[in-house]
Amino acid sequence: MGMFEEFVVKAKNAAGVVGEKAGYFVDVSKININIAEENNELKKKYQELGKLVYDSEKSGTSDAIKVENYIKQIDDINEKICKLKSEVASLKKKLVCCSCGNQNDSDSKYCCKCGKELAVKCEVISNSNSLENQEQGDTNNKIN
Ligand SMILES: [Zn+2]
Repeated sequence: MGMFEEFVVKAKNAAGVVGEKAGYFVDVSKININIAEENNELKKKYQELGKLVYDSEKSGTSDAIKVENYIKQIDDINEKICKLKSEVASLKKKLVCCSCGNQNDSDSKYCCKCGKELAVKCEVISNSNSLENQEQGDTNNKIN
């Protein structure tokens, strides 16, 4: 087989199956980058919270509102990470348990770790739109 013929065969393959796979990998790696960023942010918040508690304990001026604020921010980040992980899992055809975060096979009805019924809500997370919808609230928002 000559170099040119070989190239044509490769190009044909690339245009078909490989092209589809590339999109999948781009999505997953993009979300994984987001997860890494959120994890960094989480680490930073923990550090800041630790310093705040240290300072306030040392000076005897504890600020419960500030601490509560940090806890809320940390919870928000954790929730974001959970959603992003669900997205990755659904791209990989896995079902993430909303209760314990365990990844189950896509045809599972119940979580194999905690036994909780796997909600449909977890199952349909497949693109960025559904993520935005969830953040807007639990009403059935429709994009017009
Ligand atoms: Zn579970």
